Amino acid sequence: MNDKNSQPQVGIISLGCSKALVDSERILTKLAAEGYAISNSYEGADVVIVNTCGFIDSARAESMDTISEAMNENGRVIVTGCLGINEDELRKTHPGILAVTGAHSYEQVVSAVHDALPPTSNPFVDLVPEAGIKLTPRHYAYLKISEGCNHKCRFCIIPSIRGKHVSRPIDEIMREAETLARSGVKELLVISQDTSAYGVDLGDGVKIQELAERLGELGIWIRMHYVYPYPHVDGLVELMADGKILPYIDVPFQHASPSVLKAMARPAHQEKSLGRIKKWRDICPDLTIRSTFIVGFPGETVKDFEFMLDWLEEAELDRVGCFKYENVKGAPAADLPGHVDQEEIDARWEQFMEVQQDISAKRLVKKIGRSIDVLIDGFDEQSAIGRSKADSPEVDGVVYIEDGAHLSTGDMVSVKITGSDEYDLYGELESK
Ligand code: SF4
Repeated sequence: MNDKNSQPQVGIISLGCSKALVDSERILTKLAAEGYAISNSYEGADVVIVNTCGFIDSARAESMDTISEAMNENGRVIVTGCLGINEDELRKTHPGILAVTGAHSYEQVVSAVHDALPPTSNPFVDLVPEAGIKLTPRHYAYLKISEGCNHKCRFCIIPSIRGKHVSRPIDEIMREAETLARSGVKELLVISQDTSAYGVDLGDGVKIQELAERLGELGIWIRMHYVYPYPHVDGLVELMADGKILPYIDVPFQHASPSVLKAMARPAHQEKSLGRIKKWRDICPDLTIRSTFIVGFPGETVKDFEFMLDWLEEAELDRVGCFKYENVKGAPAADLPGHVDQEEIDARWEQFMEVQQDISAKRLVKKIGRSIDVLIDGFDEQSAIGRSKADSPEVDGVVYIEDGAHLSTGDMVSVKITGSDEYDLYGELESK
């Protein structure tokens, strides 16, 4: 990496047709979601991807010249695209190439980047779940709207690695979102370190509300992650109630006890979060609220922990993830007093999960008998497996459809819910 405190930098040179360009954009979207920065120069890049074209001789020659240039100027090169079918020939000319993949295989390119330049990670706040390193199906995509963060939560090293919050210009985001929608993506997962802060640094008055409205016009599912419960978020929930964006909000509360939140230095820790949740549900009764929590943060007393359990019972969040506190190298929390014993952390985690499982099961059982839209993600031996508007990929539950074997990945179907358990729903197709 250029500097051990900066993001890993990837350069990309895209040659050839519009399909190749869409692949390049998908590769960049995925890498940006994982915390890679895109470099415009050979010197700034830790690795360079060359997306080649081999359609006619002149295009092949241009691709070969570009690979030579990238090898000379940078030396760490991944080749993809149409020329990738001639791997032997490529390797004969350039034995130092890191990886070669064929056309439209952006998933393999992303894996090759992971091998050459591992993503920086933080177990508490990674935007893409660990499982997200696995390949993103083509019918949904992550859309990163800003980078960095202005907060200083004590368990987190993101601000020191990725710097201050920088929003991407709205037109650039929209171009990417439109390209993804045109290429068949049916769901965009809006991510950033602090989604509600989108635009505060832009100086042109554009804020998250406007971005959400414009994304809502694309006619595909728009799912909001990493939203802090500031008052202006009510406006987003109104868009959800109007059906413009998905009635789903992911708010990383991390704790409920005021003293722990203060010790964590969480943004919005002074906000009355239960009141906000109630207001959101009044505005949008069908809202799904997802959150994550940390148990065993240094200084968390039994009272703090119980406060959080009571809060959970009252808040009745739909989807909840829970992390056991661990020291993260470079994060100030490691130096705080009052570290909780590992055994105690494990016990609190178990208890937390039990409480939340009951809440989740109670909320899901209410869906039995309803008809809901489901986007198909894949299959097991018996069923098609999809997600409803209430389920974000890889972190939430799924919907099993027993009579869905004939469906295809990426299909959107209407499903009548017939059963539920702690996390998942079961149903049958409404119209065949
Ligand atoms: S809000 Fe806190 S946890 Fe999230 S990235 Fe910023 S500092 Fe880290």
